[in-house]
Amino acid sequence: MRARYHITIQGIVQGVGFRPFVYLQAREKDITGYVNNSSLGVEIEIEGEKTDLRNFIQIVRDIPPPTSRITDIQIDSIPLSFDKDFSISKSIASGEKSALISSDIATCQDCLKELRDPLDRRFAYPFINCTNCGPRYTIINDIPYDRHNTSMAPFKMCPNCYEEYHNPLSRRFHAQPNACAVCGPQVFLYDNQENLIKDISPVTEAARLLKKGMIVAIKGIGGFHLAVDAFSEKAVKRLRFVKHRQEKPFALMFRDLSALAQNARVSDAEKEALLSKEHPIVLLEKIIPNNIALSVAPGNRYFGAMLPYTPLHHLLFDFGFEALVMTSGNLSNEPICIDNKESFDKLCRVADYFLVHNRDISVRSDDSIVTHVSGSIRQIRRSRGFVPVPIFLKESLSPILACGGLLKNTICLIKDNRAFLSQHIGNLENPEAINSFESAITHLKEILQVNPQIIAYDLHPDYPGTRYALKQKQLRLIGVQHHFAHMVGCMAEHGLNEKVIGIILDGSGYGLDGRIWGGEVLVGNLSSFERKSHFEYLPLPGGNLAIKEPWRMAVSYLYQAYGENLLELPLQFIKKLEPNKIDILLKMIRQKVNSPLTSSCGRLFDGVAALIGLRDVIDFEGQAAMDLEMIQGCEKSSCYPIETINNNGIYLIRHQPIIKGIVEDIKKGKTGAQISRRFHLTLIEIFTRICCKVRAESALEKVVLSGGVFQNRTILTGLEEQLKQRGFKVYSNALIPTNDGGLSLGQAVAAHYINLQSGDNKCA
Ligand code: ZN
Ligand code: ZN
Ligand code: FE
Repeated sequence: MRARYHITIQGIVQGVGFRPFVYLQAREKDITGYVNNSSLGVEIEIEGEKTDLRNFIQIVRDIPPPTSRITDIQIDSIPLSFDKDFSISKSIASGEKSALISSDIATCQDCLKELRDPLDRRFAYPFINCTNCGPRYTIINDIPYDRHNTSMAPFKMCPNCYEEYHNPLSRRFHAQPNACAVCGPQVFLYDNQENLIKDISPVTEAARLLKKGMIVAIKGIGGFHLAVDAFSEKAVKRLRFVKHRQEKPFALMFRDLSALAQNARVSDAEKEALLSKEHPIVLLEKIIPNNIALSVAPGNRYFGAMLPYTPLHHLLFDFGFEALVMTSGNLSNEPICIDNKESFDKLCRVADYFLVHNRDISVRSDDSIVTHVSGSIRQIRRSRGFVPVPIFLKESLSPILACGGLLKNTICLIKDNRAFLSQHIGNLENPEAINSFESAITHLKEILQVNPQIIAYDLHPDYPGTRYALKQKQLRLIGVQHHFAHMVGCMAEHGLNEKVIGIILDGSGYGLDGRIWGGEVLVGNLSSFERKSHFEYLPLPGGNLAIKEPWRMAVSYLYQAYGENLLELPLQFIKKLEPNKIDILLKMIRQKVNSPLTSSCGRLFDGVAALIGLRDVIDFEGQAAMDLEMIQGCEKSSCYPIETINNNGIYLIRHQPIIKGIVEDIKKGKTGAQISRRFHLTLIEIFTRICCKVRAESALEKVVLSGGVFQNRTILTGLEEQLKQRGFKVYSNALIPTNDGGLSLGQAVAAHYINLQSGDNKCA
C-alpha cells in the first residue's frame, strides 16, 4: 500500500549533514518526496510503499548523522502527490526560528584521512572540514546559519568547493565553513614584533620553534592558545614566568591516546569523552613517574588533557611531538584572546611567535573541562563543543535571561523548554570580561531569537551581573539567592519539580541576611526555600583578601576555638606568622572591622589547609582546598567530634570541635595526609546526619548536592554513598558545572517559578 507522510524533525538537525543523509536513505528505498530545512528544523515529505516508509522513519530516528540530535519527530499522514523523485529543496526561512545551532565539532576521521593523503586536494590544508566536523558556533555572526552570516563570508568558494557545497551526495553539501587551500583561510607565522616570517611553511617553522623551547601563540577555534613543548621543564617554567602564573595547572594536548596513556590513567568512559565530538579537556590521574615536565601541574594528582581537535593541531603533532602545553592565550583573569591584533598587543611579551590565521573568531569559547567522578562525566567548564546545545527542561518556561555569578561566569537564556547556557565568560572582575559578558548576552539573544521578559541575578549588590540586571528597568527583575540557584540548577538538570533537601557546599554567596553563606542545607522547591542548617558564622577577616590568603581564615577559626590563647598554641603555623600580622588580624576580628560573617564550607577547607601548613596564600581560586583534597590519605579513619546546635529548628554546625581535633592531631604529630582524611570523613558524616534529621522532620527523601565544594571527588562520592546507603535518592550536577559556571541555569529556572508564585516578591 502506498502512503505519504509529512515529517517535522526538531533538534540539532541543521549544519550536521541531515538533508544529504535523508536524501540518500530515500533514494536507496525508492521513496519520492523532498527534504528541506525550515525554521523549526527539518521538514520531510515521503511517499512510497508503507513498509519502505516505516523502515525509512526507523533509520532516521535511530541512526541519524553522528553530530545531530533529534528532540522531537512529528509524523502526519497526507494525500499522495505522485512526485517522480526525491529532492532537496531550498530552505524555508520564515516564522519563528527554533532550529538549534550546532556546536563546534572536532575534526572527523574522514577529513583526517584526506588531510594526510598527498593525492587529496586538501592534503595538509589546516582548515579542512565537512558536514560532520569543523567550526560552527564560534564562526556564527547571525542567523540563519548560512555562510554569509559566518566569518567564512569573505572567502568566495572556488569552483571545486562550490560544486561540493551544492552536491547533495558530497560530504560537504552545505557545510558552511567548506574551503580549500585555493579559496579558504590561510595560516601565517609572525614573530612577537609582528614581522611576518616568509618563505617557509608556517606550520613547519612553528613546530621547529616549539621544539627549540619557544612559546608559540596559536589561534584556534574559540581563541588563542599558548603552546610549549610539554616535555621541556625549561620551556614550561619560562611560560609560567612570563605569564605570571605560578602554579595553576596547564592543560595538555597529547598527540593521541597512546601518548596519553603513557602519562595518565585513562578509563573507558574517559576515553570516550576524549574522543567525543566535543574533544574537551578531561582531568586524568597522572601515572607517576611520567614524562611531562613537573611544572605543568605541580602538586596535583591530575592532568587536564585533551586530544588534537583542529586540522592545524593534527598537522603540528605530525612533526613528532608527544604532548604540548596548550593553555588559554590571555593575560591572567582576562578573557581569552580571539583577535589577531588583540593577541599581538596583549601577548607580545608572553609569546615568542604567533601562528595565526585569517578566519575571524566570532564567538570566544574556551576549551571545555570535564571529569569522570562517581559514574558520570561531569562538566567543570562547559564551553567549546557543548555551547550552544541547550539543557532540555521538563516544562516550557517564560523567556528569561540570567546573569550568573562573579567567577566562572556564564549567562543563561531560556526559550520554551530549552535552557541555553553561554560559553565560559570567566571572572567578571575586569573590564574586558564585563564587555565580554555584555556581548555574549547580545549575541546569544540575537542568534537564539529570545527576547527575555524577566532578568534573574545574584543578590550580591556588587556583582557586575547584578548591576547590569538592575539597569534593565523594562524587564521584570528577580534576584535569586546564590545557593538556592545552585540547588535549582541541579534540580532543573534532573527534571525535579518537588520539595527536596539541598546540600549546597560552596565558596561564597550573598545570603538573605546579608552575610556570606556557603555551607548550607536548604529545603525547598523551584520557587522558594528554607534554610535548615549551616556552619556557624565566623569572621572573614579582610573580606575578599581572606579568600586569597587562607592563613587569615586559619587565624579566624583558631580565634573562635581558643580565643586569645591561640597565640600559645604550639603550632608551626602560629610560629612562622609575623606577630604583628596576627595582631592586626585579631584586632580586625575583635573590632569587627572589614570582617563580614560567613558560613562558607570552602573557607573551612582553606583554613584547615593553612593550619596544617599546606598554603598561606593562594595563586588561583580554590587552590588551598584542592591541596587539602590532593594530600589526603585513603586509610580508614574516625571522624573529628561533631556538634550541632538546634537554633529554632535550624541546625548550626560548630567548627570549634573540628578545629580543636585538628590541633590535637597536629600536636600528636599526625601527618597532613591523615588529618585531611579525617577532615573529609567528618564533613561527609556531618551532612549525612543532618539529612537524616531533616528527613525525620519532613519525610523528604530526595537530596540535591551542588556548589563548588562538590568538585572535591571525596566529598561528592563519599556523601553520595553514605546518603544512598541510608535510602536517600541523590542528585548531583553533571551536564552543568557544580561550581558557579552552572549558577545561571538555576537563577533562570528559579526566576520563572518565583514569578509564577507571586506578583512582587523580589527575592527567594
Ligand atoms: Zn570532517
Ligand atoms: Zn576551494
Ligand atoms: Fe557558588
